[in-house]
Amino acid sequence: MPQNSHVKLFIPGPVEVRPEILAAQTIPMIGHRSSEYAALQGRIMPKLRPLFGTAGRVFVVAASGSGLQEAAARNCVRRRCLCLVNGAFSERWQEIVVANGKQADVLETAWDVAIRPEQVDERLRTGDYDAVTVVYNETSTGLLNPVPEIAAVVKKYSDVMLLVDTVSMAGGVEIRADEWGLDVCLTSSQKALALPPGLALCSVSDAAMARAAAVPDRGWYFDFLQYEKYAAKNHTPATPAISLMHALDVQLDAITAEGWAARFARHQRLMQMVHAWVLANGFAFYAEEGYRSPTVTTVRNTRKIDVGALNTYLRQRGMVISNGYGNLKGETFRIAHMGDTTEQEVAELLAAMTEFLGGK
Ligand code: PLP
Repeated sequence: MPQNSHVKLFIPGPVEVRPEILAAQTIPMIGHRSSEYAALQGRIMPKLRPLFGTAGRVFVVAASGSGLQEAAARNCVRRRCLCLVNGAFSERWQEIVVANGKQADVLETAWDVAIRPEQVDERLRTGDYDAVTVVYNETSTGLLNPVPEIAAVVKKYSDVMLLVDTVSMAGGVEIRADEWGLDVCLTSSQKALALPPGLALCSVSDAAMARAAAVPDRGWYFDFLQYEKYAAKNHTPATPAISLMHALDVQLDAITAEGWAARFARHQRLMQMVHAWVLANGFAFYAEEGYRSPTVTTVRNTRKIDVGALNTYLRQRGMVISNGYGNLKGETFRIAHMGDTTEQEVAELLAAMTEFLGGK
């Protein structure tokens, strides 16, 4: 590998960030209580609404996505939560709910299978729950859960908040939070938004705000009521990540210029390219058919290739993919195709992977 050359990331976060976005972070510092900062936050907010498909409030927090998983638990679980689990990140969210002093039960399926709305209905019928957590796109397994259908079920239970982790898909797949009735949608900056890590973003429904107002012990840093109070002046309770806000501002202009629909369509095309490669090269998919992620493909390593050796080969060519997550290491590998990644970049990656296999 030539010295100082950058290794292009095809891992499911952090993803590649374009130089223009990295440069936006070098804009000189401003005071966070200044009118300039309020103007920055004020121009970001309307541009962010299409990310979640909401006409309502969006909060941006200096944290990673896990912070807002904690926030959703603290603000929106009154007593007992039903955690839908079919991957590492949904499993961790359940741990986070419990770590915040709330009771949580698990509805778990095999990790290569999507959660079905009927299963959720059956559990909610017990009347035991006032919130549901679901991970829309399981980054560990490359599986997209049927959130619109799950939301249609949850809607029947007016007292139940639907909390949705959209971390590895928001910005790559359309979300319609208002139309589907998603109470909280949370995401991180370092995935399909193609920003550096450090920002967590969420949409919050009126019902979720009303729930928060009725729930004690919300803590301080992640209190939705505090966010709302300060957002009225385009400020945040604590010091915001100002440089990242500049990057977000510039990136939202670029996304708006690309067009949200065009961006989602590009993600579909990238997924199809990767799917075609998987099939042409005798591999299989980890996630069941019909629920495969448009942002990350988890490949079943049916040919038992040495994933470490593949990555060494790719690194020498300035690229890197991801091994399987946790127990799935070696048995699977993951190719991310999200953010600002182009067809040409994915084609180059797939060509190098084919070359590696040619030597096998
Ligand atoms: N949820 C999902 C689906 C993720 O993929 C991740 C991280 O990869 C997280 C939550 C945690 O997000 P963060 O690392 O931004 O805290």
